[in-house]
Amino acid sequence: MIHPTPRLRFAPSPTGPLHLGGARTAMYNWAAARAMGGAFLLRIEDTDQARSTDASLQIILAGLRWLGIDWDEGPEKGGDFGPYFQMQRLPLYRAAADRLLASGHAYRCYCSSERIEAVREAQKAAKSSFLGYDGHCRQLTDAQRTDFERQGVVPNVRFRMPEGRALRVHDLILGDVDVNTKDFDDWVMLRPDGVPLYNFACVVDDIGMKITHVVRGNEHFQNGIKQRLLFEALGHECPQFAHIPLILNAEGKKLSKRDADTNMLDYRDKGFPPEAVFNYIALLGWGFSADRDVFSRDEMVQAFRIDGIGKSGAKFDEEKLRWMCGEYVRRWSPAECLERATPWLQSVVPANAFAAHRAWLQNVLACYQERVALLAEFAAKVAWCFADPAMDEAAQKNLAKDPAACDWLRGYADVLAASNAPASFPAPRGAVDTQVVLPTKKDGAPVAAMCDTPAQIEAACRAFTERIGVKFGSFVHPVRAALTGTDKGPGLFDVVFLLGKDTSVRRLRAAADSIAG
Ligand code: GLU
Repeated sequence: MIHPTPRLRFAPSPTGPLHLGGARTAMYNWAAARAMGGAFLLRIEDTDQARSTDASLQIILAGLRWLGIDWDEGPEKGGDFGPYFQMQRLPLYRAAADRLLASGHAYRCYCSSERIEAVREAQKAAKSSFLGYDGHCRQLTDAQRTDFERQGVVPNVRFRMPEGRALRVHDLILGDVDVNTKDFDDWVMLRPDGVPLYNFACVVDDIGMKITHVVRGNEHFQNGIKQRLLFEALGHECPQFAHIPLILNAEGKKLSKRDADTNMLDYRDKGFPPEAVFNYIALLGWGFSADRDVFSRDEMVQAFRIDGIGKSGAKFDEEKLRWMCGEYVRRWSPAECLERATPWLQSVVPANAFAAHRAWLQNVLACYQERVALLAEFAAKVAWCFADPAMDEAAQKNLAKDPAACDWLRGYADVLAASNAPASFPAPRGAVDTQVVLPTKKDGAPVAAMCDTPAQIEAACRAFTERIGVKFGSFVHPVRAALTGTDKGPGLFDVVFLLGKDTSVRRLRAAADSIAG
């Protein structure tokens, strides 16, 4: 009997990190469980003892947590259907194997690996359409068995596949698929050391953990056939299977390590917002709606259905992933941006600024929210605020373009120095308020002296350019170069505002000196 509550699982082998495909499988099972009001559990398939490590397990768990995929049962949680590590379930596999041996659905195989290898070579040489175990030990007599045991041969336990049985299996994604058991050999369930192989352990556990739906990569479709027959042999209904298409690279081939960061934690460490990565992965085979690609975890859960997963392979597109990241960064408040970007900003922002000048820092980041996709990118973008920047090539060109630039920079430095612009980063607002009378325009009208906001700084700057008779457009380039060391960035008057008077004046004068040589 199928358990009435939907129960889904993610069953990673801790032999490597959580990669993109695994994250998608986990997510779809998680979303389906949440959508149906069921349980989502983690089962650790650690029977490959040579390759399973605790380090990999920790990386997988951290990857899931980072994506916001939580589990109801499993490692660190426990649950009523444990243990959740296969190596702690060996007696359960032994018992199931004994039942299958007793019912004749399984048999002991004493063939040596050399014999099995020789059979395979012969099949290959004969260009046989069937490659696999030849069923040699299917019909051993009791006497033959005893003989092997007496020689100390410890057998594998093999599943006896029904011969030449045609099956129509239903997959929630692939629909009805016709298969025939003649294409399968009698596969090993349990090794001589009592450690189960994947298909066997998986079924024993799916039964024991009352799994109702299995969503996984379609590299497991053939395994699913073996598993269905095993469920049948054990007298249990098979969960509903859903095999998801592969993730493809830009050329339409299977995604490899070269195409994408396969470890979720690499995305974390590079500053990809986890919600954006989650959102992007969700779209690798499933769609939220025809006109919306950006959605939250909750919205996904509201809308998710297993049979809504597409049949064709989804292409991984790094550019779209980055676009998605930008969408998230843009939507955050500056406070949230600062919170999230702090680990990366620590390399460029003085430690005391995080507490003492929070609002100011938020203003700095807000200037870049439109231009940044990854949290890590903020640091390089805002570094000019904190340390006098080296001039890049574009900045050097802009400084060298007009020989008069040296005078403009000096003049503008004087204007700023005499203004009430905030003294220095990050100036306490309102603390500097000496109303300095600035030079007047040619026609005698006073130039705005208030430089308390970017708009006022701009007005004062425009007045200055008019006074000295320079086109505003030509003027701003060397000024930006002097202040930021580049030709990109936020509006020039945001730059002056953020840097404050002291730093701006110092940098303008230093640049002028460098031109003067
Ligand atoms: N340990 C298997 C894997 O990582 C699980 C497959 C399954 O979900 O049945 O591929």
